[in-house]
Amino acid sequence: MMTAMLQPRYAAKVHTHAPRRRHYFDREAETLPREALARLQLKRLRASLKNACENVPLHRERMRARKLLPQDMRALEDVRELPFTLKTDLREHYPFGMFARPRESLARLHASSGTTGKPTVVGYTARDLATWADLMARSMACAGARPGDVVHNAYGYGLFTGGLGAHYGAERLGATVVPMSGGSTERQVLLIQDFGARVLCATPSYALNIAEVAEREGVDLRASKLEIGLFGAEPWSEGLRREIEARLGLKALDVYGLSEIMGPGVAVECEAQDGLHAWEDHFLIEIIDPESGQPVSEGEAGELVITTLTKEALPMIRYRTRDITRATTARCACGRTHLRLQRITGRNDDMLIIRGVNVYPSQIEAVLVGLPGVAPHYQLVVERNGSLDELTVEVEAATLEHVLDELEARVRHQIKSMIGVTTRVVAKKPGEVPRSQGKAVRVRDLRPKK
Ligand SMILES: [Zn+2]
Repeated sequence: MMTAMLQPRYAAKVHTHAPRRRHYFDREAETLPREALARLQLKRLRASLKNACENVPLHRERMRARKLLPQDMRALEDVRELPFTLKTDLREHYPFGMFARPRESLARLHASSGTTGKPTVVGYTARDLATWADLMARSMACAGARPGDVVHNAYGYGLFTGGLGAHYGAERLGATVVPMSGGSTERQVLLIQDFGARVLCATPSYALNIAEVAEREGVDLRASKLEIGLFGAEPWSEGLRREIEARLGLKALDVYGLSEIMGPGVAVECEAQDGLHAWEDHFLIEIIDPESGQPVSEGEAGELVITTLTKEALPMIRYRTRDITRATTARCACGRTHLRLQRITGRNDDMLIIRGVNVYPSQIEAVLVGLPGVAPHYQLVVERNGSLDELTVEVEAATLEHVLDELEARVRHQIKSMIGVTTRVVAKKPGEVPRSQGKAVRVRDLRPKK
C-alpha cells in the first residue's frame, strides 16, 4: 500500500541559482502606483463604512455618536476620526452580532479558541472567501511559490483559519495541495520527500519539529525538493528563521494574518526578506501609539491597526491587532508598491513585565537560538512571588554531553546581558521540552488569575 508506493528519495537537490522570472499573481494590483492605490483605498473605504453602518448596529451607533457619515471621508487621514474596534467587541457581540450579512448568506464560519471566555467568531460570504483565496495566492506567489508546485500544508485544518486559508490560496495559485494538517510528523517527513513538495506551509515551531523528526529518522530534507517555507501564526525571531533554513534547506518567509481581519494572507514577505508587504488595496494600515491612540511617524514602532476595505460579511473599522510593528513605504527591490511591515516581534498581550522590564517571548528566543550547546526549544514559566513576577526559562541541552549547571549559568548570563532581565534558567535533557504540533506553547503562566 502506502509504503510500497512511497520510496524515499535520497537524490541530491539540484540548486539552480539562475534567478527565476519574477512572478506576480496580480501584477496590476501588486505594482499599482501609490497615488492610484490611495485613490482606490479612499473609494473602497467609503463603501466599506457604508456597508458597516447600514448593516452593523454597533458601527452605526458609534459613527452616529461622532456625527460621522461614510461620505465624510474626504482623505485617507480622515480615518483617524473613526472609533477603534477591539477584540472585546467581537466577544460582546458573540456569535453573529458584528456580521453585516444575515447568517443564511454566509458561506463559512471560523472561530478562534480564546484562552478566556467565548471564542471569537468570524464569517465569510462566498465573495469574501474568493477574495481571501486571491490574496493568499498573491501572498504565496510573492514568497516565490509558482503554479504547478507541490504545496505541503501542515497548518491545522478546522476552525483555525491557517489550514483552509493556505489550502484555498494554493489551489487558487494553481499549485498541487497536500492537505496534511498538523501532527503525524514522521508521515509528514515521508510525504514531503515522496510527493516532492517545493513549498512547506506551517507554523515556524512546527517546521522545526519536522526538521528534528527528519534528522532523527536519518532523512536529509535539505536534499528534498523543498525550496520555500511559508511560516506564520506565531511571532518568531530572525535566529529561528536561520535555524530552520539551515536544517530544512529552504528559504523561510513570514506570512501574517489574523482571523478578525481575514486569516493568513494579510501581509507576506517577498524574496527580499525585508519586511512584509501588506495588501493595501484590501486593507487600510495604520500604526499608532498604543497608549495615546495617535499615529506614529513612518518607521516608528507602534500598534498595527487595520480597516478592511472589501470585506462583506465582517467589515472591520480600525481594528486594534495588539501587534507591535513598524511600516515603511520605501520602494522594495521586488517591484511591489504595497507598504512593508517589519516582522512582528510580539503581540502586546504576550508582553511580560518582569521586575519592571518589558519582555517579549521572541526576545528570549532570539537569545537562545544559536547559542552553542542549546537546542532551539524553550518554554517560559511566569510565576508570582509575593508582589513580583518571576520568569523561569526552560531550555534544552543540544546533546547529553552538556553539563546542565554550566548551561544554565551561561544562558542566564546571556539573557541578562542582552535583555537586561534577571531570570531563573532550568536546563533540561535533549527532548524534554515539549515539541510544537501546531501553535507552540511558549509561555506557561502560573500567576493567579485576576
Ligand atoms: Zn518586496
